[in-house]
Amino acid sequence: MFRCVYCLWREGFLSDASSYHADHYLPQVRFPGKKVDYGNLVYSCARCNLSKGEALLPDPEDCMIAGKIEVLDTGEIRPLDDDARRIVRILALDSDDWNERRSLMIDILALVTERNIPRRLLGFPKQLPNLRRLKVPLNDRPEGVSECFHERRKKGDLPEVY
Ligand SMILES: [Zn+2]
Repeated sequence: MFRCVYCLWREGFLSDASSYHADHYLPQVRFPGKKVDYGNLVYSCARCNLSKGEALLPDPEDCMIAGKIEVLDTGEIRPLDDDARRIVRILALDSDDWNERRSLMIDILALVTERNIPRRLLGFPKQLPNLRRLKVPLNDRPEGVSECFHERRKKGDLPEVY
């Protein structure tokens, strides 16, 4: 959801959409039949996608979540189970560089929250993909079109931040 499924870095965190990829969760080299499988695609930053390469990882949607990882005020990431630990290790999410990056963003968020302006960093993008207009080959979740963020915003059903 507009952030990397592995490192959780948001588009709004001073990055642009071109630094994000549709990652083949099951690597297309090892699973050629999954190359155009919509359910095999996850939203990933370029950095994580390139670090992942052809590795098989635990499902990040099950383990890169609250309760399975925690981020300290220092920017350090703490995996709380083996699956999260494996993702953190393979993608080097506990490197000094990553810790510094998260620490800087934590400080920025503290400042903007103090001034009550977090929406620009934590909110949805102004332009949301309209899935009614986009043609997705082999969409195995057509019911999702009416529940997409674009449609939810139209209905006034989208929270300001996520
Ligand atoms: Zn990432």
